[in-house]
Amino acid sequence: MQNIESSKKVFEFDVEKIRNDFPILEREVNNKKLVYLDNAATVQKPQAVIDAISNYYKLYNSNVHRGVHTLSQEASHHYEQARIKAAAFIGAKSAQEIIFTKGTTDGINLVAQSFVKPRLQKGNEIVLTMMEHHSNIIPWQMIAQEKDAVLKIAPISESGELVMDEFEKLISKQTKIIAVTHVSNTMGTINNVSKIIEIAKQNSIPVLIDGAQSAPHMQVDVASMDCDFYVFSGHKVYGPTGIGVLYAKEEHINSMQPYQGGGGIISTVTFNKTTYVQGPLKFEAGTPNIEGAIGLAAAFDYCNSVGMETIFEHETMLLKYANSQFKNFPQVKIIGTTEHKAGVISFALENIHPFDIGTLLDKFGIAVRTGHHCTQPLMNFFNVPGTTRMSFGIYNTTQEIDYFFGALEKVLRMLS
Ligand code: PLP
Repeated sequence: MQNIESSKKVFEFDVEKIRNDFPILEREVNNKKLVYLDNAATVQKPQAVIDAISNYYKLYNSNVHRGVHTLSQEASHHYEQARIKAAAFIGAKSAQEIIFTKGTTDGINLVAQSFVKPRLQKGNEIVLTMMEHHSNIIPWQMIAQEKDAVLKIAPISESGELVMDEFEKLISKQTKIIAVTHVSNTMGTINNVSKIIEIAKQNSIPVLIDGAQSAPHMQVDVASMDCDFYVFSGHKVYGPTGIGVLYAKEEHINSMQPYQGGGGIISTVTFNKTTYVQGPLKFEAGTPNIEGAIGLAAAFDYCNSVGMETIFEHETMLLKYANSQFKNFPQVKIIGTTEHKAGVISFALENIHPFDIGTLLDKFGIAVRTGHHCTQPLMNFFNVPGTTRMSFGIYNTTQEIDYFFGALEKVLRMLS
């Protein structure tokens, strides 16, 4: 407690000012002030994002890339500005490397279908890890089954860290892609993606990084990371749902063919043959999520105004604070205990189902996630049916964590 207090003093961050930017934090749940600790699932939205979406509809709602009229030009301008901001947010060299998707899941499916599947042959291998989200398993499983290829799964340790030696041993001449999460959504483990990419490069294997849980919480620089693909979701970076980003190196954007056809991606169409436009638009068939991109741009502005390093520092402080309090609950088993973690804590209790804990915490106005967190293979590894997960965002406070532990104590008393 002493250490936390002193680190709080060193690290000045006006969380109350931040909280005022999020209207939903005013609301009550079950007659209690909302304490939102389900940020790994989705985060709340600041007023600036809500305003950007509403202004699009109030002031310049129109389709993009098609019209010569003023509203269409304005909408196109804002849509393409969002692409430029997305590139800057993750350190891409150019907006030409940014494809707008529906989210992380959609981005992984796109890479699986457009990049990997055409290169995949019988007996080839796809390397994943034990801690992947289902979204970074199933798209690969689908193409592997279609092409008679094999998934190879890198193991993790009891503390939830990737076992690098074992990971390296899985790589062979048959490996066609390595797809790894940057940060585990269930445990918070931050993977050493630079090392993974270094090993992959030595073997000329492309790497996809699932950034769903890193983009919202830390400064990301895809150019220096040197990954081939990086995917994340708008709704986890304080932006809207239904929009996401796939970063792909320009050479891959040029070499991949779209797997979905439609308007907006073509250069010429006859009944015999279609030629496509160059660049990311080739992968954005149909009317895109214009309001989503515009809201996402406002979210990038918002995160930048706070600073990604500040966000990481604040959430790390919350993580340490919460971890220190768990010492008072010896009956709780924390899933994922490595030092190198983002602001996520999953825990399990023998003979108490996480759904019961989550349901009772909700009576205190506390939102946590319960279940398998779309990581069933990881749950099987730890031999638990599910966990209760608290995950932090920019607006969470140590007072909320105190309140959480007070409520947890009462809940556990009720359930035992
Ligand atoms: N990957 C990870 C690590 C995640 O945490 C999530 C969502 O929780 C996803 C992928 C899927 O993201 P979405 O549902 O936004 O496509």
